[in-house]
Amino acid sequence: MVRCRPAIATTNIMTLFDTPEQQAEQRIQELRELIRKYDYAYYVDAHPLVGDREYDALFKELQDLEREHPFLVTTDSPTQRVGGEPLKEFRQITHAIPMLSLGNTYSREEVTDFDRRVKEGLEGADFKYVTELKYDGVAISLAYRNGVLETGATRGDGFTGDDITHNIKTISSIPLKVRDVVVEGVPLLNFEVRGEAFMLNDDFVRLNQEREEAGEKTYANPRNLTAGTLKQLDAREVAKRPLQMVCYYLFTTEVKLTHHSKNIDLLKQLGFPVGNATRVCSGVDEVFEFINEYENQREQLPFMIDGIVLKVDALRQQDELGFVARSPRWAIAYKYEAQKALTRLNDITLQVGRTGVATPVAELQPVFLAGSTISRATLHNADYIAELDLRIGDMVVIEKGGEVIPKVSGVDINQRAPEAQQWRFPHTCPCHLQTPLHRPEGEANYYCDSAACPWQIRRRIEHFASRKAMDIEGLGEKVVDLLVTKGYINTVADVYYLHEHRDELRGLEGWGEKSVQKLLDGVEASKQQPFSRVLFALGVRFVGEGAAKLLAKNFGSFDALQNATLEQLTSVNEIGKRIAQSVIDFCNDEQELLTVARMKQAGVQFEQEIVALQSNEFAGMTFVLTGELQSMTRTQAGEMIEQRGGKVSSSVSKKTTYVVAGESAGSKLTKAQELGVSILTEEQFLPMIGL
Ligand code: NAD
Repeated sequence: MVRCRPAIATTNIMTLFDTPEQQAEQRIQELRELIRKYDYAYYVDAHPLVGDREYDALFKELQDLEREHPFLVTTDSPTQRVGGEPLKEFRQITHAIPMLSLGNTYSREEVTDFDRRVKEGLEGADFKYVTELKYDGVAISLAYRNGVLETGATRGDGFTGDDITHNIKTISSIPLKVRDVVVEGVPLLNFEVRGEAFMLNDDFVRLNQEREEAGEKTYANPRNLTAGTLKQLDAREVAKRPLQMVCYYLFTTEVKLTHHSKNIDLLKQLGFPVGNATRVCSGVDEVFEFINEYENQREQLPFMIDGIVLKVDALRQQDELGFVARSPRWAIAYKYEAQKALTRLNDITLQVGRTGVATPVAELQPVFLAGSTISRATLHNADYIAELDLRIGDMVVIEKGGEVIPKVSGVDINQRAPEAQQWRFPHTCPCHLQTPLHRPEGEANYYCDSAACPWQIRRRIEHFASRKAMDIEGLGEKVVDLLVTKGYINTVADVYYLHEHRDELRGLEGWGEKSVQKLLDGVEASKQQPFSRVLFALGVRFVGEGAAKLLAKNFGSFDALQNATLEQLTSVNEIGKRIAQSVIDFCNDEQELLTVARMKQAGVQFEQEIVALQSNEFAGMTFVLTGELQSMTRTQAGEMIEQRGGKVSSSVSKKTTYVVAGESAGSKLTKAQELGVSILTEEQFLPMIGL
C-alpha cells in the first residue's frame, strides 16, 4: 500500500481580527508575490523554485479568490497576464497576434466541463477537436517574408518577446527558406509560425553531464535547458546545444485558412517539423482515448511532454468562442500527473538556510526519473515527515512535480522492515557549534538561532552577493565557503572590510594578486547598488525583491524605514502585516543595526536616489490608471505622475483622487463609479501632464 501526503502546505498567517474580505485581500497579495517570484525563476532565470503542480495549485487558488472577489482583480495580477518578461539584453519584437497561454487542468472532469462549455458556446453545432502532445519546451514565434525566415522571437509577456533570430537559425529543423506551397492558386510566402523549441532527453542528459564535469550549474530538466539556451547572447553557444522544434500554429492573411488540422498539413508541406501524434477527434470520448494512450506511452517518448492539448478544429468556431484574459476558450491543456519512481530512503540529514531554518533532506538510493538521476530530495519540515510517517530504510515514492524538483510524495509500507524506527528531528544544528534547535509555536520549522552558525552565515552571504541582490563578482558559493571557514567573514558587513585581509587572502592556496583584486573590485562596485537592492540583500524575512523595491520607493531611506509604524508600512499597497512586522523586528535588532551601521560607514547606499521632480502640481494626489492608453503605456503615465509629485496606486479607494480610464477599463472603473471617484478620460488627462 502506498500512502501519499495530501495537499500543499501554504504559509498563511492571518489575525483573528481580520474580516474575511481582508483575509482574502491578504492571501491574494501573498499569492501574487509568490507567483511573481516563481514566474521570474521559471521564465527569466530558467531555474524554477517549485514544481508545476504546486505552482498550478497556487495559481488556481488565486484565480478562485479573484473570481469570488472581482473588485480585487488588478491588471498586473499574474492571472491577467502571460508569465514571462522580455529580457533587456535583446531587441524586442512586438507580436502581431498576442502569444497567449492555455487554460490547463489535471482533472478529467474539467475536460468534460470544457467540452460542455464549447458545446454551449457553439450552440449545439457540429464540431471536431484536434488533439496534440503538449511538448514541454519554450514557445517561439517565427515570421517569414517572401518565404524566407525573417525573425524568431520568444513569447515574452505575450505581447512583446525577445528577438532570438540568431539563436533560432541554429535549429537545423527550422527551414530558412520554405518549400513552394500554393493554396487555391495563391503562393504561401508571408506568414507566422508558432511552435515549441525543446530538447531530446538523451541530449539533455549528455549536456548536463558535460556541465557538471566543467563545474557549471546543471539544469533540472530539458525545458529549463532549452529556455536557458535560447537566452544565450552568443549564437555559437546555442549551436553547440542541439535544439528541436515542433510547430503547431500557422497565421497568415495571404490565403484562406479554415481548420487547425489543415494548417498542420500546410506547415508540413512548407517543410516545418510537426508532431506526428496529432489527431482529429469526433468528440470528447476520442479525446479521452488519446489522453489514455499517451499517459502510457509518454515515458517511452524521446522527449518530455507534460500533457496533451485539445483544440477546436474549425477556425471559424475558434473565433466564435474567443478568448478569456490569458487563454483561448477553444483550447485547453490536460496535464499528466508527475512521473514517479520507487527507491530506498537511506538517511535523513539536515540543511540549514540563511534564516536558520533547518530543513530535512532525504538521502536516497540514486534512481533515474524523468530525465535525471535523483539522490536527494527535500522533506520540507517535521510535519511533512510525520504525515508520511517516513522511516529510514523505507521504500519511498519520488515524484518530479512538473518534472522539475524531486520530492518524496509517498511510502510503500508493505515493504517496511519490522524493526524500522520512527525518525526524530535532531535536537541540535548539524554545524560544529551544535546549537539546540527550537520550533516556535504554530510554526512548521525548526530553527537554529545562533548568529555564529557557519551554515547560516554562508547562505546569508551567498544571498547577499547573488545576482539579484548586491551582484558581487568573484563572491560565489566556493569563495564564500572559503572566507567563512577562514573566519574573514561573519556578517554581510564584513564583506566591506575584506581589504583588511588583503595579505592573508593573497596567501590562500590558488589565490594571487589578480583574484584578490577582482574580488575587492567587485565589493567596491557593489557600493553603488541602489538602496532597494541593499534592502533585498540584507535578507529581511519575507522581504523579497518586489517588497524591497516598494519599501525603498515609499520610504526612501533606511532611517525612514526605521521610524515607520506598522500602519505606515501596511499603508503601502502590497505590503501586508507579515512583511511590515518583519521589517520592524529587523529594525529593532541590535545585531542587524550594527551590521547596517558598518555597511553605511563603508559607503553602501542606504538612501534611495531621489529622482528630481519636474514640478509639484500633483502633490497629495493619488491616481489609479486602468485600461489601455493610446498615447503611452501605463508605466510611462505613472512615471509622469510621480515626476509631478503625485502617487500611483493599483487599487481604487475613497482616497483616490483620479482614475484615468483608458480603453477596455474594467473593474477599477466600475469601483470608481461606485465610490464617486473622479474619472478622467485619456484626452482629459493628457493636458494635465502638458501633452
Ligand atoms: P502552459 O505551459 O500550461 O501552456 C501553454 C504553452 O504550452 C504554450 O505557450 C506552448 O508553449 C505550450 N505548448 C506545448 N505544446 C503545445 C501545443 N501542441 N499547442 C499549443 N501550445 C503548446 O502555459 P504557460 O503560460 O507556458 O506556462 C504556465 C505553466 O508553466 C504553468 O501552468 C506551470 O505549470 C508552469 N510554470 C511553472 C512555474 C514553476 O515555478 N514551476 C512557474 C511559472 C510557470
